[in-house]
Amino acid sequence: MWAGSCPVGRGPRMTHTKSHLPHKLCASCGRSFAWRRKWARVWDEVRYCSERCRRDRSRAGK
Ligand SMILES: [Zn+2]
Repeated sequence: MWAGSCPVGRGPRMTHTKSHLPHKLCASCGRSFAWRRKWARVWDEVRYCSERCRRDRSRAGK
């Protein structure tokens, strides 16, 4: 008899860590949005989740 081989797969729990991206809150609509590749260079200056929000905001000065 072959004994000793335990077929139970118990490895480390795989937690889904898909590239933890930074988040920010949109200054216009208040929603949180995640980093995007197109913002790679200007992430520090990004304040709005979308072009639309940015326009919305900058237009509200009249
Ligand atoms: Zn927004």
